[in-house]
Amino acid sequence: MKSISRRAWVLHLMAVAFLCGVGFLLYTFFTNADSWSMKKANRHIYSSSSLTAAGSITDESGEILAKTVDGKREYNESKAVRTATMHIVGDPQGYIASGVQSSYKDVLTGYNIVDGIYDLKKYGTGSDIQLTINAELCKTAYQAMGSNKGTVGVYNYKTGELLCVVSKPSYDISNKPVQSINNDKTGEYDGVYLNRFFSGVYTPGSTFKVITSACAIDNIPDIEDRSFKCGGEYKIDGSSVKCLSNHHTIGFEKALNKSCNSAFAQIAVELGTQKLTQTAQTLGFGKSLKVGNINTAKSSFDVSKATKLDLGWAGIGQYTTRVNPCHMLTIVGAVANGGTSPSPYFIKTITSPTGKVTFNAKTEMLEPMFTQSTAAKLNELLRSDVENGYGDYKFSGLEMCGKTGTAEVSSEDGGLRPHAWFVGYSQREDLPLAIVVVAENGGSASSVAIPIANKTMQKAAKLFS
Ligand SMILES: [Zn+2]
Repeated sequence: MKSISRRAWVLHLMAVAFLCGVGFLLYTFFTNADSWSMKKANRHIYSSSSLTAAGSITDESGEILAKTVDGKREYNESKAVRTATMHIVGDPQGYIASGVQSSYKDVLTGYNIVDGIYDLKKYGTGSDIQLTINAELCKTAYQAMGSNKGTVGVYNYKTGELLCVVSKPSYDISNKPVQSINNDKTGEYDGVYLNRFFSGVYTPGSTFKVITSACAIDNIPDIEDRSFKCGGEYKIDGSSVKCLSNHHTIGFEKALNKSCNSAFAQIAVELGTQKLTQTAQTLGFGKSLKVGNINTAKSSFDVSKATKLDLGWAGIGQYTTRVNPCHMLTIVGAVANGGTSPSPYFIKTITSPTGKVTFNAKTEMLEPMFTQSTAAKLNELLRSDVENGYGDYKFSGLEMCGKTGTAEVSSEDGGLRPHAWFVGYSQREDLPLAIVVVAENGGSASSVAIPIANKTMQKAAKLFS
């Protein structure tokens, strides 16, 4: 009797051990199957560590950006298009993590957890992906950037479709300059595998005044009737925040039009750390945006240890604040769209090898950023910036709203020129597009970032309105 119960006990133990083993196997299968079958050693998908057998990638108009022909990956015929769309399409080796060829390689190769690479074995390919990106617009934006590094992004602020995402430096995906990239002594290819639009963060400079303005509209009831003193600087704590000009006495709207640092440093100090932090949090600072399979770099705003002087600098977009360009685009998009931005996306459809549409993008909204009335007020201010500040002639026929930023980076980075920013959007009903431009160390925003924004938006107007 005793030995029987001992045997039963042993059997029990074995059964438990078996179930644990099965559980572990299933767990590791579900967590690792993806990487096992996608391993570069798997010659169904890769040859010489390069993606080969995979579905096509087309732009929003149906233009081929990447496809597989006779086991070889081919790209757009135009070198300019291949270079301008390289970051969004992604390289075949997968160095650019946010590129479609990396972040959607399971879709392109037809991998799924149940069938493995069944589609690939049966049909010789996976699914095709159509993007919301327009290749011609990317080409124009890339060329407009000239010799500047940085990024340009354009999206529809009603739907969230990204029409243009370019990042510089780039290279021709069909003729990768391996030697030049590996022995890059001049910095020409600095951060070439980074898609700056999704993964970059920059000091925002005066573009941050849009955010300080939002906080002021919500928290200082008479802000529009207030006036501020500028003697070419704002003195505080025995030091000062410098302004680019002496604006003497200036009202709120004019202060934004002229981008007066003295006024905005005073406003930030009056608002204080708590209110500014609250506004930044509501706008999504400290959080990634999920754009398809990609998580953007987080914008950061931390004034928890700031002195009054630091707070003054933070109010004009200096101090330790960093902003991701895609995030900044959604902030002005929310202003344009009554307080809430659609979630940006770049995958329009996914079609299986049998021709079935398995994914069709739809518009989803992010959390509200501004109340409707604050958005309406900011909209007036940003329109006034272009009308009364930069001049409508710089954006002929576009009815643009926006804000420039010339973000100082010299003190910490040893005498570099500032980053040149422009963020804004067209008010035209037939052109509901917002744009962000960052030219790294590009110098003056009005002479560098505005022309890039204008050329890109003029092309968008030709293509889409
Ligand atoms: Zn001033």
